Amino acid sequence: MRIDLLLAGAGLASALIALRVAEARPGARIRLVEQAERPPDAHTWCFHATDLTPAWHRRLASGLRARWEGQEVRFADHRRALRAGYASLDDAGLARLLAAAEGIEVVRGAPVAALDAGGATLRDGTRMDAACVIDGRGAAPSRHLVTAWQKFLGIEFETEAPHGLARPVIMDATVPQIDGYRFVYLLPFSPTRLLVEDTRYSDGPALDDAAAADEVRAYAEARGWRGTEARRERGVLPIALAHDAAGLWQEAAGGAVPVGLRAGLFHPVTGYSLPVAARVADVVAESPLATGAVFAAVRDFALPRAREDRFLRLLNRMLFRGCPPEARHRVLSRFYRLPEPLIERFYAGRLTALDRLRIVAGKPPIPVSAALPCLREAPLLATAR
Ligand SMILES: Cc1cc2nc3c(=O)[nH]c(=O)nc-3n(C[C@H](O)[C@H](O)[C@H](O)COP(=O)(O)OP(=O)(O)OC[C@H]3O[C@@H](n4cnc5c(N)ncnc54)[C@H](O)[C@@H]3O)c2cc1C
Repeated sequence: MRIDLLLAGAGLASALIALRVAEARPGARIRLVEQAERPPDAHTWCFHATDLTPAWHRRLASGLRARWEGQEVRFADHRRALRAGYASLDDAGLARLLAAAEGIEVVRGAPVAALDAGGATLRDGTRMDAACVIDGRGAAPSRHLVTAWQKFLGIEFETEAPHGLARPVIMDATVPQIDGYRFVYLLPFSPTRLLVEDTRYSDGPALDDAAAADEVRAYAEARGWRGTEARRERGVLPIALAHDAAGLWQEAAGGAVPVGLRAGLFHPVTGYSLPVAARVADVVAESPLATGAVFAAVRDFALPRAREDRFLRLLNRMLFRGCPPEARHRVLSRFYRLPEPLIERFYAGRLTALDRLRIVAGKPPIPVSAALPCLREAPLLATAR
């Protein structure tokens, strides 16, 4: 059987591409090849309502686990309710969307051993050829990307009594600042179901699950939230300090099209990738379905975006390299005093030149002497090679 589009990995980036292409090209044969036997219960992929187009809101609606009208941030010196809606998609919801779409086949329990522009070879030797081959196998180390880390461990509690939270708290940074910038993330899925996630912006990727779980339980306990553990999730996500996107795309040339974290396609500061994955899916759907054409289209989207993201990587370098770990929360606290439309554009990756000025204007959050060595990304990339 001829396959029009073959995607290695059935994670977030691949799935959004498959959904978008299935809609744009009825009759196209789309296959996702995934190593895991079944969808995990490992992610709550959230996004801000202002991150996505109306078409994407419609496309994802039936896969969403929850949707909220607003959100909140908390710092030692101020609290703020933000008006932007927030929504959460989970692994089961994504799998449901894939199963409901015409023309999409998900082959599970099928690890890909090798990929090329013409197809995939599975670990058991099976060969699958396709007109267009996309590599969505998740994060892979790259000498073209220098990162710090956002590490988190979340426990979802079924509480004995209503927890009383009506909307997500995307950062409660009133907690002790250990291991970098630390905050707790709270998602109230129902009056008695609450995800409590301990998050750190750290220099290193080591995550002590047991210690983080103790912190989560202590946080919940201190607020009187008692109950049973329903599920857990963990992540160690890259936060981009320096990125040579041209180098990454040059290295990938002639092969399958890299997408998702593998292609450095995530928000440099938040580590979120859902909004940009939706935009990449639009790009793929608008291109002829051939590896070469899609490669060129995604690369031509990714390169200018990486240039625009230079500013965000600079902010990261100032945060991680210019600021002592225990003082990082001040930078974030200051950011969350800025006007809401700017914060929304920041999340969506649509900052204007004026926004950038406003973010750095005023009393610098770190001394100029500490900021100066952060200005260039080339030295960091050189040390990675
Ligand atoms: C717990 C958690 C929560 C997150 N929450 C958010 C959030 O709220 N919002 C947001 O925008 N981002 C979030 N992220 C960050 C980011 O969006 C996710 O990591 C996202 O899943 C990355 O998408 P991806 O498609 O690049 O990789 P993945 O979604 O990880 O998909 C890669 C897939 O490829 C498969 N695979 C790997 N190797 C092979 C192989 N050899 N053969 C076949 N299959 C293979 C993997 O099993 C996996 O299913 C979260 C990340 C984690 C870990």
